[in-house]
Amino acid sequence: TLPDGPLGLAFKDVTFSYNPDKPVLQHITFSLRPGERLGIIGRTGSGKSSLSRVMLRLYNINSGRIEIGGVDITQLELPDLYRRVGMVTQDVQLFDGSLRDNLTLFDDQISDEFIMETTQRLGLSHWIDAQPEGLDTHLSAGGASLSAGEAQLFALTRVFLTQPSLVILDEPSSRLDAATESILQTAVDQMMEHCTGIIIAHRLSTLEQVDRIMVLGGGKILEFGGREQL
Ligand code: ATP
Ligand code: MG
Repeated sequence: TLPDGPLGLAFKDVTFSYNPDKPVLQHITFSLRPGERLGIIGRTGSGKSSLSRVMLRLYNINSGRIEIGGVDITQLELPDLYRRVGMVTQDVQLFDGSLRDNLTLFDDQISDEFIMETTQRLGLSHWIDAQPEGLDTHLSAGGASLSAGEAQLFALTRVFLTQPSLVILDEPSSRLDAATESILQTAVDQMMEHCTGIIIAHRLSTLEQVDRIMVLGGGKILEFGGREQL
């Protein structure tokens, strides 16, 4: 039921709380057209990650409505939602299984060539080359020998491989050094040419390529506009 290509997004008066007593998102209303890029900034605890979690239905909202590609997300089957919407969170979850399965999430349409090309582009191929059995290397949950920065690249590679139509990057470069961050920036720009994107960042300076910026504070939209307006 979702249209092909980049997906638009709309929040309509969305209110959400983890616990009844403390609202985390309050009356959030905004929309993005297909292909637009939004940067979200705001202080620690302002609700940035929560906003991305409710988009993937990791939590149900209390009231309001979220539409992706014009469809209320509660009407979508979860596999359809996950196939089209990708998210990189602040930490990566690995599971017991091969390196290949950890990257493709069992999608056997993804070829080894595409995996190698993508890891090359994102700067993760050194790490993969160092694994004893390449893509067949067995990883155990939580136990992989990834540095914080490598883990972040791993999570990004995973999302790149699924070629999402809407992608949410939650502080994708917070653990990378400047050189790695610039490699990553190029790759992210390329991916964003084919999808709608949301990039969550602590600093405005890491959001050079976005069309719009939202400033969140205390679960409310404090500002929303084009880059030049802020
Ligand atoms: P940061 O910049 O530190 O990543 P953030 O803007 O992403 O912060 P959120 O993680 O969305 O902030 O948190 C918003 C509020 O929700 C905070 O007050 C936080 O304590 C609370 N919160 C976050 N996750 C949970 C949870 N699983 N259960 C209960 N409260 C939570
Ligand atoms: Mg966060």
